[in-house]
Amino acid sequence: MSGASGTSGTDVRRVPIVAGNWKMNYGPAEAQTFVKQILDDLAAISGVERVLCPPAISLLAVENLTRPTDVKLGAQNMYFEEKGAYTGEISPLMLKGICQYVILGHSERRAYFGETDELVNRKARSAFAHNLRPIVCVGEQLEDRDAGRTERVLTEQVRGSLANLPAERLGELVVAYEPVWAIGTGRAATTQDAADAAALIRALLAEMYGVDAVAAVRVQYGGSVTAANAGEFAALPDVDGSLVGGASLKPEFVEIIRQTAQAKGV
Ligand code: PEP
Repeated sequence: MSGASGTSGTDVRRVPIVAGNWKMNYGPAEAQTFVKQILDDLAAISGVERVLCPPAISLLAVENLTRPTDVKLGAQNMYFEEKGAYTGEISPLMLKGICQYVILGHSERRAYFGETDELVNRKARSAFAHNLRPIVCVGEQLEDRDAGRTERVLTEQVRGSLANLPAERLGELVVAYEPVWAIGTGRAATTQDAADAAALIRALLAEMYGVDAVAAVRVQYGGSVTAANAGEFAALPDVDGSLVGGASLKPEFVEIIRQTAQAKGV
């Protein structure tokens, strides 16, 4: 596995990472039933970081099962404050000790809950401050792509959501490129789209943090990833794995990770 890319000045070995975003599916009992079904197979794969992101209410139920393994957990969202009068929110202090990762700025959070780049950035900085690894999502809408605005939208999102992070800790950052038109539609991006976006994200981060710091950042592709296409995305040198929605709710998730391991040669 090589971490070198066209925009990376240092040859850093990045560990591939596949995360499953369960969205609003599987309460605690269902979550345990599903995890029991896949855990042995999931735990048996090495060389790829495997992250389950259940709904917040199911995190502890899943953690009870994953604790003896090296399967990691992620939350799907968090607020940036540590505690206080923020009804319905979950804080980094509450996630610490249960999760290693937190998804931030998913396009559904941006579209349905009004999350802005500024808010996502406050959350990302808070995640770093609390030693939670953020998986920050960026991606253009279909109308942006059709109007030739993909690069502009990604540039705004990267500069806005990923500003002022600790440069020396960018190995803890995961950026998920998720074109909105590919999420849940069964219409994945082409590998060329994913390669172009990953290269752009790395180039923008290199401008912000320097080429050496950015060599450690992991970039995922997300959007209708399946066992049939995961290997093609993982074979791209600038793509380090995938963020998986629908297919992470099925045993197919394990096969996606196997395909990723195979494509990366780990
Ligand atoms: C997602 O929700 O992040 C996602 C990529 O969904 P899907 O794999 O279902 O397209």
